[in-house]
Amino acid sequence: MLLTNGRIYTLDPADRVVDTLVVRDGRIAYAGRRADVAPHAAEPEIDLEGRAVLPGLVDAHGHLMHLARSRLTLDVTGLESEDEAAERVARRAAVARPGEWITGRGWDQNRWPGGRYPSRASLDRAAPRHPVALVRVDGHAIWANSAALRLAGIDRRTPDPPGGRVERDGRGDPTGILIDTAQDLVRRVEPRPSAAQFEDAVRAAIAECLHVGLTGVHEMGADLDALAAYRRLVEAGAFPFRNYVALRGADPAAWAAALDQGPTRSPDARVTVGAVKLMADGALGSRGAALHAPYCDDPANTGLLLLPPEEIEARVRSAAARGFQLCVHAIGDRANSLVLDAFEAVIRGRPAVGGGHVPAAPGTDPRHRVEHAQLLDVRDVPRFRALGVLPSMQPTHCTSDMPWAPSRLGPDRLTGAYAWRSLLATGTVIAGGSDFPVELPNPFHGIHAAVTRRPRAGPDPGWQPDQRMTRGEAVRAFTLWNAYAAHQEATLGSLEPGKWADLVVCSDDIFTCAAEDIAAIEPVLTVIGGEIVLDRRPTG
Ligand SMILES: [Zn+2]
Repeated sequence: MLLTNGRIYTLDPADRVVDTLVVRDGRIAYAGRRADVAPHAAEPEIDLEGRAVLPGLVDAHGHLMHLARSRLTLDVTGLESEDEAAERVARRAAVARPGEWITGRGWDQNRWPGGRYPSRASLDRAAPRHPVALVRVDGHAIWANSAALRLAGIDRRTPDPPGGRVERDGRGDPTGILIDTAQDLVRRVEPRPSAAQFEDAVRAAIAECLHVGLTGVHEMGADLDALAAYRRLVEAGAFPFRNYVALRGADPAAWAAALDQGPTRSPDARVTVGAVKLMADGALGSRGAALHAPYCDDPANTGLLLLPPEEIEARVRSAAARGFQLCVHAIGDRANSLVLDAFEAVIRGRPAVGGGHVPAAPGTDPRHRVEHAQLLDVRDVPRFRALGVLPSMQPTHCTSDMPWAPSRLGPDRLTGAYAWRSLLATGTVIAGGSDFPVELPNPFHGIHAAVTRRPRAGPDPGWQPDQRMTRGEAVRAFTLWNAYAAHQEATLGSLEPGKWADLVVCSDDIFTCAAEDIAAIEPVLTVIGGEIVLDRRPTG
């Protein structure tokens, strides 16, 4: 394949912009001037008609499994009130068999009048004969009705599990809101989709990702059933995507199974297992992010640590010893301090012969990651670079959270919130992602948010504009820096000879268009490993 007459941003070390690429055997064979390519009759030629081309865009923090499962359940995203969500449940209940579970995802009380949590009462009225369990948009809380609580065995005597909270009313009865690990009480009794249903949903989820211009994801917490489904799809030639998988190890059994599975590299690099995902705390939206000082709008609450610090360190140690990269979710400043402490202990902890310190595994470069790193104590900012730990951040979280984050955190702590410029100034790179389905998977939304720090319909200048990224940095956060964050920079992330031919031909030039137009860029043609996986070129 020969692609020519484009503005091809290679992101190679010289940052060259070329007009022509030659692709052979799925890889880039040449990047340069058309005039310097010897004519080769066998190669089909694609005229890019002057369009801009980027290396394949990758989401460093997405949930393909959750996106797929959410397609099988009720979507309550973007609704404006508790009543509206209950109304949607009532409509589903009207057509569901009595007793059938109604599960769904996407509610967000921060969008609703008053901003208070909903309660089981509205769901009881909407669906008295069906157990209902709706996951909050960020995956950190479940809103359940009385039937679901009953099946899960939750009543006023149920204690809060470690790392979780059963919200209670003035009389001590559960309100229907289950935070962080308390969600597992309901998850244990919910029905699961069949393997065939799940595979179909994965194909649809991949199509959704391709549609917005992604060529791959780092999946932050897939279970082994999902991994098996991906591998069946790869074998069937039905996985037109790349997935760098971090296995989820929520409970001890899942953790042991993930470690047994070990890291794997597939020859075509479609599905690679390289990491394990751990959760250190909850999220800001549900006030579960672990803070050094209490929430400004909830003075008795400092959030939830999902694992004690010693356990985080022990898990980092055991997984790193098996050759895994660690991707640890930490949102609050306290969780970030503790996770960096754990990484520091493991990376620097082993005393060398004759004194001093050496890395835990000499000759290796683990590139452990903190997922989110949303709120940092400013003293922790330089520790990322110093430890070789990478912040993996989601620019659209910043623009979604800015309406209410200041009331949660107060003005003083905001210096370390979504602190991209402060982190980049220390010399670290940032892996860019969306956390889909918490946000939309569209990488152009993420790059727009990184460059402007304002919502797609928000005023200029954005929030804390001195923390913005440049366009070159934001594009790298979704390409080259993501590849580095997955140990894949030798084969992905830029358009250089020998790397996989993963690229996106864009409807507009992200480096020259107006900043407010970045979010509206669409893929015109997408290639993964030399194979056209999306083609929206005008025909004729
Ligand atoms: Zn996530």
